[in-house]
Amino acid sequence: MSILIVGSVGLDTVETPFDKVEDALGGSATYLSLAASYFTGPINFVGVVGEDFSKDFIKLFEDHNVDLEGLQIVEGGKTFRWSGKYHYDLNNRDTLSTELNVFENFDPQLPERYKKSSHVVLGNIQPELQLKVLDQLENPKFVVCDTMNLWIEKTKEKLLEVLKRVDVLIINDSEARLLTKEPNLIKAAAIIRDMGPKFLIIKKGEHGALLFGDDTVFSAPAYPMENIYDPTGAGDSFAGGFAGYIHKTSDFSFDNMKRAVIYGSTMASFCVEKFSTQGLEELSPLLIHSRFLEFRELSKFEDDE
Ligand code: AMP
Repeated sequence: MSILIVGSVGLDTVETPFDKVEDALGGSATYLSLAASYFTGPINFVGVVGEDFSKDFIKLFEDHNVDLEGLQIVEGGKTFRWSGKYHYDLNNRDTLSTELNVFENFDPQLPERYKKSSHVVLGNIQPELQLKVLDQLENPKFVVCDTMNLWIEKTKEKLLEVLKRVDVLIINDSEARLLTKEPNLIKAAAIIRDMGPKFLIIKKGEHGALLFGDDTVFSAPAYPMENIYDPTGAGDSFAGGFAGYIHKTSDFSFDNMKRAVIYGSTMASFCVEKFSTQGLEELSPLLIHSRFLEFRELSKFEDDE
């Protein structure tokens, strides 16, 4: 009953109206694993880096009970690099550059013992690679998938193949509209669920998230954040918290998914408070639980009787 996480591992250069960092730790699998590590572990990790990847980052993963047998370190290779810039509206960012480097020839190979993983998180990478991972798994019970506009625009056919095999798709509102060409999110959700995912989560940036299941929808509140420094990785932290909590509880009911969505939102809120992965590096179960309770208070109200 282990959890497997695959995705990008990279060095991010990020500029916001408040600060700038260069070659900071980033990547979808990185945020996913750090967020999930507060709920479960060890985490079977699949990714690729170059020789330039710092030993300090390796240690950070090890300290969070991330199993690195599935991390390929390419001799003489350069790690994936991404650079982005946020403006005052932190919901939108410009990608300034993407250097695939070792990611270009990445062929995810699962160590033998990873193939039995019951829970899988397909982080944001090419759908073709997500399929390669799914093909190596013996009998996955619960598959969570993330994607991005790039793959919806460039490799939609492959993405549709992936969607047939996932239990939960997590995307943001603009990606849901792009995928379905439907402006209304409720209608878009129905179209996406017909593509395969049993459950769908649509994130709305700082405005919360919607969870869709059979004939039912849950609206998760947005946490009133005063200090957003760097939104990078918020989506992955959400997915990591969500999947980590489901793995820990092994309960796939809609009520438990609602709790998982709030734990996901909780991890995203910690992520954006600091640059890069710093907001996820030194949390505790107590801190996480108390913010979870704050989320609960946000949408609790009495009826008028
Ligand atoms: P998020 O803010 O949750 O969308 O995730 C941001 C992370 O995605 C950054 O740390 C980047 O390194 C990573 N990233 C950006 N572009 C890509 C891409 N084309 N493929 C995989 N990962 C990417």
